[in-house]
Amino acid sequence: MTPSDPKLLANIRIVLARTSHPGNIGAAARAMKTMGLSHLTLVDPAVFPNSQADAMASGAADVLENATVCTTLAEALAGTTLALGVSARRRDIVAEVLTPPEAAARLLGEAQAAPVALVFGNETSGLSNEELSLCQGLVTIPANPDYSSLNLAAAVQVLSYELRQAWLGRAAWPQPEIDAASGDEMEKFYVHLETALGELEFLNPGSPGKLMLKLRRLFSRTRLAKEEVNILRGILTAAQEAKAAPRNRNPQ
Ligand code: SAH
Repeated sequence: MTPSDPKLLANIRIVLARTSHPGNIGAAARAMKTMGLSHLTLVDPAVFPNSQADAMASGAADVLENATVCTTLAEALAGTTLALGVSARRRDIVAEVLTPPEAAARLLGEAQAAPVALVFGNETSGLSNEELSLCQGLVTIPANPDYSSLNLAAAVQVLSYELRQAWLGRAAWPQPEIDAASGDEMEKFYVHLETALGELEFLNPGSPGKLMLKLRRLFSRTRLAKEEVNILRGILTAAQEAKAAPRNRNPQ
């Protein structure tokens, strides 16, 4: 796809997780529309729809009207192949920390092939560990280290601006990964992995510790293809079957 193809921006979701102030939702919608983005997804917003959101959106009422409201982040990320969490902190959780221009280039590269998402956290608590574990990378706005927390809608504006600059052709994009596994496929794989590791007694389901988080980080770094996920799930199933019925194997 060439730069400035509208289909690219249409493949980018801006996801706001557990937003407290409806005014921020409206201001985020306005920030998006000024940069040509239109897909807003709200995960469990405290108040929506709301007149403060409408007032702050100003001429971007259409972005609010078309917003998708979900109960969980996993639902909001359905069908995406790349989700980047936007956070000033939490560098320990995800594989990779990107600057806004790097994130924009990566997202547009991937958006040539499939939907992608940028995930913003709650105004007070930011993104939770669980929310970040569903993201394959982290974007940090390099702000004043003494006061680095931007208003939510201001953070949306910075990232939307960078996406537009990249979209206008002011940055080189990588080619999309061939047949990358979608977020849903990766989540199913993680459920299968956790179940199998429990059955194999490698993981104690009662106290899983940080093992799953560490394994998620490992697999996020490699960006698995669909076929590779199928191979890994095949190996898990074989291991589960061998554990369940060890005597049926090597009958001699
Ligand atoms: N007290 C929260 C700040 C939340 S600000 C915290 O420490 O995480 C609301 C949201 O704006 C954040 O969850 C993040 O998505 C975004 N944000 C604000 N400042 C940012 C920065 N410097 N870099 C990246 N994202 C930022």
